[in-house]
Amino acid sequence: MRWEDLSEPWKRSFVQAWDAYNNGSIPIGAVLVDREGKVIIEGRNRVHEETAPINQICSNRLAHAEMNVLLQLESNDYQHLGEAGIYSTMEPCIQCFGAIILSKVKNIYFAALDDKLAGATTLKDKHGFIDSRKLVINGPYPVLGDIQMVLRTDFLLRYEADRAEDLIAAHAIDYPIGVALGRHYFQTNKLYEVKGKREAFPKFFDEMAVRIKEMEKAHIR
Ligand SMILES: [Zn+2]
Repeated sequence: MRWEDLSEPWKRSFVQAWDAYNNGSIPIGAVLVDREGKVIIEGRNRVHEETAPINQICSNRLAHAEMNVLLQLESNDYQHLGEAGIYSTMEPCIQCFGAIILSKVKNIYFAALDDKLAGATTLKDKHGFIDSRKLVINGPYPVLGDIQMVLRTDFLLRYEADRAEDLIAAHAIDYPIGVALGRHYFQTNKLYEVKGKREAFPKFFDEMAVRIKEMEKAHIR
């Protein structure tokens, strides 16, 4: 998998996640696409930031990527959302999954599984109202999920050291390679060194994708 082969929604979602990392917020990005798959709204996590564009939230534990996408919708938009889709680099949490359902977005795409922690899409079949919305949930996606976990692991070790190991242990159940690579990037400061450079991310994406494939092969042997 290479950056240039990624679809536009994934590219834009990961650039948003990288922007969040660069600004000290949890590296998760999201976009909303219309029925043709065209990106119409972008958003990202801003929990640790003091500013946000109009209609978005920051400096609050609820300032998640998907929320910052959905909060940009206006009341007239909802009638057109039946075929829309939301992309996120991480499985939506209980809050965001609820917000997606209430926003009437049916199609959900997420890169990394998070069902050991806050991820909530497994509630799909366990609640009558949610079931009635006939959601189409796509994900997790191989490689993309590991790349998300590289960012997440580096972020946790760097900014949330007191609780990082507990969370990383949960992520490592599904993403041992992404977590191991995230530790490597943290120790070598490779991501942090280019913090703030948006154009640096595609090169890192390709480098991470190659390393992930190499580690998978070594693991299988
Ligand atoms: Zn969330």
